[in-house]
Amino acid sequence: MSAISINKINKTYPGVTPVRALEDIDLTINPGEFVALLGPSGCGKSTLLNLIAGFEKATSGTLLVNNKPVQKPGPERGVVFQEAALFPWLNVWENVAFGPKVAGKSKSEYEDRAMEMLEITGLSAFLKHLPVQLSGGMRQRVGIARVLTLGSEVLLMDEPFGALDAQTRLSMQELLLSVWHKLRTTILFVTHDIDEAILLADTIYVMSARPGKIATKITVPIDRPRTIEDTTTEAFNSLKREILKQIRH
Ligand code: ADP
Repeated sequence: MSAISINKINKTYPGVTPVRALEDIDLTINPGEFVALLGPSGCGKSTLLNLIAGFEKATSGTLLVNNKPVQKPGPERGVVFQEAALFPWLNVWENVAFGPKVAGKSKSEYEDRAMEMLEITGLSAFLKHLPVQLSGGMRQRVGIARVLTLGSEVLLMDEPFGALDAQTRLSMQELLLSVWHKLRTTILFVTHDIDEAILLADTIYVMSARPGKIATKITVPIDRPRTIEDTTTEAFNSLKREILKQIRH
């Protein structure tokens, strides 16, 4: 059974001049797979992620998550955006506990998992901090811990590190790799950064623009566990050159 199965998905945004954002997208993601969706701005990456999240409806085609058609957003699909929209008046612990509380869970049902997710995202020492007291990278960690606490089987990440400075971005990429190694959650990660896609993913789908199509599927031949140092190896650079060539083409 695949975690995400997408068949002949088309999406056109209606309007005076309709925008054909996605054309005949086919894509299958296995449980526990880390997939990057890579392509230039405007090629339809966010549109595809929003369809899987249930925020938008496809014009045609089928889209299954765990063999069920996506009708609307649901807790089994956790979404992480570029900015973690945290409640500014709630501290780290309260932000992470908010979802399970609203879902009607008692503290004993979510406390252990929430503590574990805060631990693996390196936030255990910051439970009482308010978002305003945290750096951008730390706020993104809270956003990730919050989604993981809900127990989502699929993580949909839309340029989650796009607003961070280069140094913080690298450490967040390593953090995400270590979280994924521990939990093996299925991840679909949208990025326009080739290095980020190669470092993180098992499989990269390269998209081309207007209308957005899958141009190539690439299996990343770099062993795991990976670290930032892998980005300087010949294997990494030769794959990067190949992807650059395809994107130019
Ligand atoms: P990406 O994430 O790769 O930058 P998007 O999925 O955001 O690309 O956008 C794909 C195309 O669809 C773009 O041409 C964009 O302008 C258009 N688009 C995105 N959202 C809407 C919308 N709500 N209404 C009309 N056009 C949209």
